[in-house]
Amino acid sequence: MSTRPEILFPLFAGIETLEGVGPKTAQSLAALDITRPRDLLFTLPWSGVDRRRRATVQGAEIPGVVTVEVVVGRHDAPARPSAPYRVVVEDAATSFHLIYFRARADHLRRLLPTGARRLVSGKVELFDGIAQMVHPDHVVPVEEAGEIPDFEPVYPLTAGVTQRVMAKAAQSALLRAPRLGEWIDPAQKAQAGWPDWHDALRVAHSPGSARDLAPASPARERLAYDELMAHQMTLALARSHLRRAKGRATVGTGELQARVVAALPFALTNAQTRAIADIAADMGAPMRMNRLLQGDVGAGKTLVAFKALLIAVEAGGQGVLMAPTEILARQHFQGLTPLAEAAGVRLDILTGRDKGAARGAKLRALAAGETDILVGTHAVFQKDVEFADLRLAIVDEQHRFGVRQRLELGQKGAQADVLVMTATPIPRSLALAQYGDMDVSVLDEKPPGRLPIKTALVNTGRMDEVVDHLRHAIAEGRQAYWVCPLVEESEAVDLSSAEERYRRLRAALGEGRVGLVHGQMPPEDKDAAMTRFQRGETSVLVATTVIEVGVDVPNASIMVIERAESFGLAQLHQLRGRVGRGTAASTCLLMYQAPLSEGGRKRLETMRDTEDGFRIAEVDLEMRGAGDLIGTAQSGLPRFRVADLEAQSALMAVAQSDARKLLADDPDLASPRGRAARVLLWLMERDQAIRLISVG
Ligand code: ADP
Ligand code: MG
Repeated sequence: MSTRPEILFPLFAGIETLEGVGPKTAQSLAALDITRPRDLLFTLPWSGVDRRRRATVQGAEIPGVVTVEVVVGRHDAPARPSAPYRVVVEDAATSFHLIYFRARADHLRRLLPTGARRLVSGKVELFDGIAQMVHPDHVVPVEEAGEIPDFEPVYPLTAGVTQRVMAKAAQSALLRAPRLGEWIDPAQKAQAGWPDWHDALRVAHSPGSARDLAPASPARERLAYDELMAHQMTLALARSHLRRAKGRATVGTGELQARVVAALPFALTNAQTRAIADIAADMGAPMRMNRLLQGDVGAGKTLVAFKALLIAVEAGGQGVLMAPTEILARQHFQGLTPLAEAAGVRLDILTGRDKGAARGAKLRALAAGETDILVGTHAVFQKDVEFADLRLAIVDEQHRFGVRQRLELGQKGAQADVLVMTATPIPRSLALAQYGDMDVSVLDEKPPGRLPIKTALVNTGRMDEVVDHLRHAIAEGRQAYWVCPLVEESEAVDLSSAEERYRRLRAALGEGRVGLVHGQMPPEDKDAAMTRFQRGETSVLVATTVIEVGVDVPNASIMVIERAESFGLAQLHQLRGRVGRGTAASTCLLMYQAPLSEGGRKRLETMRDTEDGFRIAEVDLEMRGAGDLIGTAQSGLPRFRVADLEAQSALMAVAQSDARKLLADDPDLASPRGRAARVLLWLMERDQAIRLISVG
């Protein structure tokens, strides 16, 4: 099945085929990303209005929405057009006013003829002691009372589309929704009490009360689950596709690893040992590894990565470690050099800066198998880079990688195992959403002996004290990072503030003591400034946020962040992680400009109160929402229309195991439930997944 099933055609027709949707409305709806009936089905009301009939406005909760039958009385047209137009009406117990501004009298006379009975609904408030309804939401003849539902859904709107048009179009789309086979595990469905797909849509669009709008209502939950299930099916298909692709096992002898461990001045943490065991088992199995190594900054991922690379070398193959930037690649190279010497393996580095003959020599050594381990930037995956026998590809700090890129990466090293490392703590539901195709190892334990980082919030007004503090600290041989504010989107503004701070700190602390790095420096100058700081030649490094994730200077024990309130939590956590890596107690000073916004205060207080990256990530998710947290477009995470990864986070894990189990039991999706799941994938437009079934 490589074309869309016919049963779904009506849902993928043009949006203007729906009742009440003309070309203009269609254009407006496009702003909500609604271009087909299908999109409208999954655009659910976010709220609702109680429009149950009352006999009278008397005794109603005011101000509030009231729906009541009235007899139309006198029209009071205003003398001046700017004054309100008033229609006196009478319900079962009292009279009140309907008020219109800038009204067209002829229109109102037709709508509300004196003496006629009408059902009116709208917000009633008191004005000069008289109840009035300004611009009623509904005015209908009593025979058409059915037009006003007891509980009216409220849809997200965009300019040019009214509630009425939305509701009508949604109902019209509902009529197109076919009855589909069930793709959810029957036991799961029964246990959760979920309705069929079709019924769930109906309830979601025609809620009976506010309860039907809650994320935990069975209908909503089911529709959310469908989205998550389609996503997890895609990931599970990608996973089994990758695993099936590999035909050989890479088993290490342990010999090289033992040499490295013997040379280390410390023992591995339990978490490191566990992660290495996971990796060794994956590599040793005749399937392709597709594993994520997640660990907070400083958890010791590098060593785990290196041991994995040694397994590849022990088995007679090669390994590659790719970092996202030049600086990080060089740092990995420097950090791994002594370990490689201890193991007696040949390590090389390849980045975009390698050119000409030197590059040619590196490529030849690699193709001849003389280089065992290659470290580099994405340059290592250029077309002409050939390995003699690549067995393991490690990608560092790639939270920007989506499923699609991971699949491409796998294709590079014909059968290479893939390990992705990330230092970004991700709440479990998001990790499942983003990396559900991978198996995950978590370094949830830091090496022993790390001292806590003391974090303080400091008002910018106390700048002089901070500089004094720095002066004393550097006199004691300590080193500090000074991160300049993210003033605006523009690098230029960031830059001038960093340069200004650089001048001032040089004046205060001594010309030679202070260095500067920023994003617009030529790479060589950036490296040189970093190297001087690493060697301890400078004591303070002033930086825009280019101080990269992963930069390691163990002697640096002070982190000053200016205008910390303008940074996101994840970024603050990453920045703070630059200190606390050595033996000295570390400090992080979060300087802020008062007054703090509520969000700014919450972020800074969270930073002050915890160092736990996962805790911080949870708060971040809570404050920002999922899409924003990972940057949906880059992450490969689809935009869910119904599912809410915060409110419904537990569903993701269920969807993952459900999807994996379905594919394990029915890899070709040939059973009735499997065929229904294919329809789900089409419905959710997971064409990438569908391709994987067809090639599978
Ligand atoms: P990550 O990459 O996870 O941020 P690193 O691999 O850079 O962390 O390790 C941080 C520091 O901890 C390094 O200096 C490393 O040598 C050290 N380290 C790693 N594992 C251990 C361990 N088991 N015990 C003590 N120190 C360790
Ligand atoms: Mg690292």
